Amino acid sequence: MYKQYVSVTEAVEIILANVPPLEIEDVTLQMAIGRVLAESVIADSHIPSFEKSPLDGYAVRFEDVRRASANAPIKLKVIEEIPAGHVPLKQLCAGEAARIMTGAMLPKGADTIIKFEDTHLQIDANQHFLGDNRQIEIIASPKSAGNYAKIGEDMNNGDVIVATGKLIDAATVAILATFGYQQVKVYKQPCAIVFASGDELVDASEKPTIGKIRNSNGPSITAQLQLWGARAIDGGIVHDKKDLVAQTLLSALEQYQVVITTGGVSVGDYDIMKEVYQEIGAEILFWRVAMRPGTPMVVAKWKDKIIFGLSGNPSASYISCELFVRAFILKLQGHNDVWRPFVKATLTNSIGKVVDQDRFLRAVCAIDRCGKLVVESLPKQKSGVLANLVDANALIYVPAANSQINTGDMVDIILLKPPGVYVHE
Ligand code: AMP
Ligand code: MG
Repeated sequence: MYKQYVSVTEAVEIILANVPPLEIEDVTLQMAIGRVLAESVIADSHIPSFEKSPLDGYAVRFEDVRRASANAPIKLKVIEEIPAGHVPLKQLCAGEAARIMTGAMLPKGADTIIKFEDTHLQIDANQHFLGDNRQIEIIASPKSAGNYAKIGEDMNNGDVIVATGKLIDAATVAILATFGYQQVKVYKQPCAIVFASGDELVDASEKPTIGKIRNSNGPSITAQLQLWGARAIDGGIVHDKKDLVAQTLLSALEQYQVVITTGGVSVGDYDIMKEVYQEIGAEILFWRVAMRPGTPMVVAKWKDKIIFGLSGNPSASYISCELFVRAFILKLQGHNDVWRPFVKATLTNSIGKVVDQDRFLRAVCAIDRCGKLVVESLPKQKSGVLANLVDANALIYVPAANSQINTGDMVDIILLKPPGVYVHE
């Protein structure tokens, strides 16, 4: 017999324990953004690989310039101009300087860079001057030698720069480009399909006749999956007929790694989903989670594929998807961090009626003037209410308890989106 009324934590643990083996593919660097690294990036050279100037100025010998000041400028002979990307041709000797640009290689003999602003004879940057007699006056010196970029000061040969499991963002792409990656190993994106069940449903393109409603769960869950990196397809509506649903699920399971249904998982006369899952040979992992909204939920395993049966109530399916399906989809793509952490926030209104189940209340979280997180529980917390999901960027976790939670109390929240800035006076 399968488990019933599992806790939220237990549900996530069961789901994560049933993630099938991950698959890997090569993609081009351009296609890698938003994917998860399936290999570690190890530096195969020092970065920088040569000593270079961090600014535009003159490469000098510290010995020559250490006492330079505005009152006692020191004259040096400019022997060379070194643009970025060029190799210096000459070695600096006593009394000599080389005009050097940001990123250019330090000439041999130089150990200090003097920025243009600390020199006289500032000339237009476009003016080339390589005349043997060109002289420069140094009017200030750093306190010690060595103010140039050293070999390996950024990254050392052999260092693990980015580890497997990292989401590839723009910064990661910069690292990959630095080490010459044209292809990169990433975890495959899971293919998922979403079916909305219910005889009352019509497609979003249709005008519902009396008693019917448009299917909003299919599009919204598909969108959630896509935001988390899955290749998700909205499979449309299935009617509450066992053999029809069974047929649809079986053919979907042949093609997709993850199948999601909404509706039909409660105890109503037409709540057929759990039975259908069993009829097609899926093993039920659990049915019902001890939380609101989203108590009705069934998760099953068919071969190494997972079927999520979410509640039909729009907020319940959305929140269950955030809490459970997201973790699964992220882990299936190789992400290391798949749990959304609880963070503390100060409640700005009170939460009345306490029930015997853990609750996740739709809420708006913001950063106040002192930089602290504040959170306001939104009105209308029924699982059938859809509108306030648009504003909700957080869920307040209210454990099953007897006491009421008041304004000013600290509560645990889960951030669904980044907090805004608190604007109330
Ligand atoms: P069920 O889970 O099938 O008992 O459905 C619970 C509630 O959610 C009912 O009021 C349904 O009409 C509604 N509902 C079910 N599926 C959807 C859907 N795909 N889009 C919007 N509402 C739905
Ligand atoms: Mg239904």
